[in-house]
Amino acid sequence: MRSLLFSISAALVASPALAQACPDTPARHTLAWTGDGDIAVTYTGPAPSGVFDIAHSVAADEETTTDTFIVDPEVVVFDAVATMDRRGQGSWALPGGPADSVTIRYKILPDHNDAVWPIGKEEIAYAFDGGFYAAASRVLLADYAYDDCPIEVVFDLPEGWTAAAPWTRDDDGVFTAADLDRFHDNGFALGPALDVRPAGGMTLVYERAAADWAADAAPGAADAFTAYETIFGDSPAANFHVFLFEGTRPDGGAFLDSFAMRQPLPARPIDAVVWRHGFAHEALHTWIGNAISRADDSDIEWFTEGFTDYLAIKTLYRTGQIDQQTLEEKLGNLLRRYTLGTFLSQGVKVTEAGANKQQNRLLVYGGGAVIAFLLDAETADAMAPGTFEAALRALYDADDRAYSQDRLIAALDASTHGAASDVIAAVDAGLRPTDLADRLAPHGVAVASFPPEEFYVDLAANPAFLAR
Ligand SMILES: [Zn+2]
Repeated sequence: MRSLLFSISAALVASPALAQACPDTPARHTLAWTGDGDIAVTYTGPAPSGVFDIAHSVAADEETTTDTFIVDPEVVVFDAVATMDRRGQGSWALPGGPADSVTIRYKILPDHNDAVWPIGKEEIAYAFDGGFYAAASRVLLADYAYDDCPIEVVFDLPEGWTAAAPWTRDDDGVFTAADLDRFHDNGFALGPALDVRPAGGMTLVYERAAADWAADAAPGAADAFTAYETIFGDSPAANFHVFLFEGTRPDGGAFLDSFAMRQPLPARPIDAVVWRHGFAHEALHTWIGNAISRADDSDIEWFTEGFTDYLAIKTLYRTGQIDQQTLEEKLGNLLRRYTLGTFLSQGVKVTEAGANKQQNRLLVYGGGAVIAFLLDAETADAMAPGTFEAALRALYDADDRAYSQDRLIAALDASTHGAASDVIAAVDAGLRPTDLADRLAPHGVAVASFPPEEFYVDLAANPAFLAR
């Protein structure tokens, strides 16, 4: 019943009758690099709610926040200038309330490197090589009620500087994001020596220290992206961008049409098995997670993370980026992650674990990936190889790609003769290592285990599995 009510409210929100009338002149954010090393931002456009926000985040010192780097905005009314009311938590209000059109000015101080960000600086902002990268939502103020119209971004930069962003760009260098989500939920970068290199359907943007890494990553990343386009029929992102930075540990974050990754540099040869997985996983979120998304607060994290992880591994193997031995090790890791997850999150179902994603991380990622693994193995034999991919394609081809958990499982069932709900129920109930081995054995996947943490997978009996 709960999900039905949510679908009704979602349908109302999406109703064309409530769609915004977009102004003839789109809202525009102009970002100018000042001589002082700050970024001066001017916004001109509608302010339907009168409140402007950035996504709020707190640094490790628990005092610094994303607000710290925004110099209080001013609103310009004719020749008069008034300071906006700081409401805290990344929110500022116009003194006069909503307005058809306003001009707002503020500065971004690009000093985010001074703080440590628990969610990773690639999800906040980062100064590098004399330039600046940011997740747009962390530094650019937006009226969240102005959500359904194009938003322009113009960079006013010193001679020789360039800007990179996944928004569409016209011949005059004006970037346009299709709506608020595509404006805010993406990264952008600007600088005097921005390194940019194409990688198939993607554009890699990176700091100089990451040049070798980018060169190594480009061919495989392009192959994985192309493989996903083949599975899903097209790409929902016209101009997909990847931002690469140095970091103290490997980490990554996905946005709508971009993702950002960092890792210790220079990368060692053995690091490739980790960052290749990162590329394959984060790029796949363009389809699974962003295009195929959840309806309201329904929990489909097991699907979003687990199916992404499984198909990323399969794609790494099919595009020749990992060999069969590494494939077997990665499949063993999935079984281990799920099994440890059932120990660490006792009494929690995989399909309910996403409500507390960080605490139940092994169960969400491992359980979801085991569901995908079993579903692929079983339907490849019972129906045909490729049934798993066809089921994902059907989710993507649907008119409404925002799924409640019930609708998601029903859709997977429709493509798999009901195999999905059978596998999900079994994984939810808790499969012991011997159960996993018994279920996979008929499909040529041999599993040995020393519970709870040792798993060995052997595909010798069915070497074509995952290659087809
Ligand atoms: Zn993910």
